[in-house]
Amino acid sequence: MRYVRAANTRDQRSAPTVTDWRDQAACRDHDADLFFDDTKAGIAAAKAICAACSMRTDCLEYAITKPERYGVFGGMDADQRHAERRNRWRRANAAAQRGEADTVTETVVDATGTRRRLQALAVIGVGVRTVERHITTAAHDYLDRIRTGKRERVPADLAKEVADIYPSLVATGGVAAGGAAMAAARKRNWPGPRAWEGLDIDDPRVGPMGEPQEPREEPKRKPRVPSEGCARRLQAAATAGIPLSVVTEATGLSVSFLSKVRAGKAVTLHAQTAELIRRVWPQVAASEVFSPGTIGQAVTNGWLPLEAWEGVDIDDPDAQPRQTAAA
Ligand code: SF4
Repeated sequence: MRYVRAANTRDQRSAPTVTDWRDQAACRDHDADLFFDDTKAGIAAAKAICAACSMRTDCLEYAITKPERYGVFGGMDADQRHAERRNRWRRANAAAQRGEADTVTETVVDATGTRRRLQALAVIGVGVRTVERHITTAAHDYLDRIRTGKRERVPADLAKEVADIYPSLVATGGVAAGGAAMAAARKRNWPGPRAWEGLDIDDPRVGPMGEPQEPREEPKRKPRVPSEGCARRLQAAATAGIPLSVVTEATGLSVSFLSKVRAGKAVTLHAQTAELIRRVWPQVAASEVFSPGTIGQAVTNGWLPLEAWEGVDIDDPDAQPRQTAAA
């Protein structure tokens, strides 16, 4: 059988392991070199073949997660895949920072192994700037935050990239030696690569040299509550012409944030924030500041006045407003 480009890397030419999607690839009968021709015309020709390929999504996913650094895969050239990887990383990182890691378990993982590898590399003089040059998903300042334990979870593709490059960086550590990395490692007493030999470096229960490790405490997340009560109050204030700037003055919360809450775009709020809005509510409701534009917004959006919530628990997401003239 002719080499199947669908195996997708030059070194896989000799590996006849063909999975389902590769079986159906449009590039099966094309010369693999066409997909690694980095002239404009070559890239365009390869992309034209990809455009007609029904396996484009699988192929792209494979090339992004492996990651394949050269050639055209899934209709994207290397630069486009690099940009896509970074976008995914940014999205996953933002989700992790917002505490939504549970909803992105596929893309965000425990940072233990990545942190330990970066620390071990520092011991042999390989700093985060050197690591940065070998990976595509993170910059050195973010790697430094992971190395110093400021990140509990990291994007899965970043963890994989660091794990993949770790053995070769350990092997060449002396060559890439950097004084600052070593100094940081000495100061903090980080274990070097030898301390992890033969151990599962990703297992948080295992310490260096195999010593049992106390599990790190999960960071406590601030409790969140439904936002309906606050949204309804802010909307009711708007029906009386009271602008958000009054609430900002009383709470210190930004107008743009309050605007999102009022529009119902924030599903939940930190309990403290909701409590703050509730606490200043009597003061806001009694405000004499009046903005005709705010009333206009309330009318356009069909927001309800405070009377609609009289006798009803305004904070109960399932509560129904009373029928009022305005409602
Ligand atoms: S998308 Fe392109 S590279 Fe990927 S399998 Fe299809 S033709 Fe081949």
